[in-house]
Amino acid sequence: MLELLVAPSREALTEPIVAWRTWVLAGSRDGEEVRLLPLFGDRRPWPVREPIRAWCVRRGRHPVPGLECTCGVYATHGFDGLRRSRDPAVLGTVALWGRVVEHAAGYRAEYGYPQRLRLVCFVCFFLAGPHGGPPCDVAVRHRGGRIVPLCAPHLELARRYGYPTPRLLDGRALERRLLDTYAVDPLPRA
Ligand SMILES: [Zn+2]
Ligand SMILES: [Zn+2]
Repeated sequence: MLELLVAPSREALTEPIVAWRTWVLAGSRDGEEVRLLPLFGDRRPWPVREPIRAWCVRRGRHPVPGLECTCGVYATHGFDGLRRSRDPAVLGTVALWGRVVEHAAGYRAEYGYPQRLRLVCFVCFFLAGPHGGPPCDVAVRHRGGRIVPLCAPHLELARRYGYPTPRLLDGRALERRLLDTYAVDPLPRA
């Protein structure tokens, strides 16, 4: 895979890059406290109102992200790169800055912060792409805190097939809570 170093230092990149990504969502029982989590890697929650700073998961002795490594905050150029996202809960744009490595599908960056966010039903995401399906009216909170947003038709379908729904939260209220928590705007529906 061809990789290019877009910006070797923070000074070299005055405007952040805006790219796309998905997250997993976790939250408190009542849905009042929510956090974005990466789909892969260390699963540490994204900090609130301060940038996430990448560190080398392989403990490499190099500036992060390393050219020959896999470390960094990941984001894709567009939707195509998101198709491989497995069971995402949140879709959005993210600003990247600092040291940024570009590769075929997107970027790995030193710093990142979400820009616009929207809850996604993972069934709609799988069947119809990132902008498919109705809004998420509900969200299932599982034991351990993982939250799975669903549109109403897919909640019914899930229940019919025996998907556990231990606790249901109001999807729209949860999305507002998420936007407030990270102080960001909603991602408009395309
Ligand atoms: Zn590394
Ligand atoms: Zn759906």
